[in-house]
Amino acid sequence: MAFEKIRGQKKAKRLLEKALASNRLSHAYLFSGPAGVGKATTAAAVADLLLCESQQGDRPCGVCPGCAKKHSGNHPDYIRITPQGAAIKIDQIRALKEALVFSPFESGYRVVVLEDVHTMRREAGNSLLKLLEEPPPNNIFILIGSSAEALLSTIVSRCQVIPFFSLPLEDAATVIIAQSPGMEKENALMLAALSDGCPGQALTLETEGLFEIYTHFLERLRQQKSDEAVRVENALAFAAEISVLKETLPVLLHLFRIFFKDVMMVSAGGKSEQSCSPEVAAVRELWNLNQLSAKIAAVDLAEKALARNCNRGLVCEVLMLDLL
Ligand SMILES: [Zn+2]
Repeated sequence: MAFEKIRGQKKAKRLLEKALASNRLSHAYLFSGPAGVGKATTAAAVADLLLCESQQGDRPCGVCPGCAKKHSGNHPDYIRITPQGAAIKIDQIRALKEALVFSPFESGYRVVVLEDVHTMRREAGNSLLKLLEEPPPNNIFILIGSSAEALLSTIVSRCQVIPFFSLPLEDAATVIIAQSPGMEKENALMLAALSDGCPGQALTLETEGLFEIYTHFLERLRQQKSDEAVRVENALAFAAEISVLKETLPVLLHLFRIFFKDVMMVSAGGKSEQSCSPEVAAVRELWNLNQLSAKIAAVDLAEKALARNCNRGLVCEVLMLDLL
């Protein structure tokens, strides 16, 4: 079956397998859940199945013309739309509409995958809504987004929502190792924990050097200095180091939040010390609950400031003075 390679996501796989086996597909699906847990991989697997032309045996067969074209990225009945810059733009939806005027060229279905649909502004969303309200026949839309709440409710109501979840750490580590052969299991488990069970996010960390920066941050946290001048100097030096990060800075802030939330959970007794990472255990005595919630609030504030395009250097300095 096409979903063999997808780790976890039992519910999503069961719903899709049932629909595919009985040939009762919805015309639109919304794959909803955190980034990096297999939504796009699953969408591609659905497309593989639908575009395979083999009439017998296991599908996708991997050898028919449909499979070959899909594999080479040239299948005319497979359309994948990703954000142009920060968002999916209305022009992209208009171009899609034009492409859908024609019936699918080859196989029975055309598969249209729209990634990060939560980035769409209202204008683009409304344009997509019109498509979903009167879908041209034999088109299967798969929308991929971080949550249904971020979308126009009218769009959500036109889709069958398929929920995706963070993976158990063991599963996430297996995915990470499969994509980074040679990685020690211990490191894969740490990346899995850092990314909250979202291996796709963990792999970004690994490739963009964020893991190293994050480890550096944890070291600095552990060496809290009593000398105020040294503390400020350390915080500012680290702020300068992270303020040059571009797209990955929000991921780093996300990690900071997960980390402090974990420390808070352990301190409040909601999570046992045995089940938390050694990094969390090492610093749990340093702050009380009020201080921890102030740190989480500082991360929230920095995220909002970055979203408003405030001066990155300044945002990082203020944040690090609060955290370190
Ligand atoms: Zn095939």
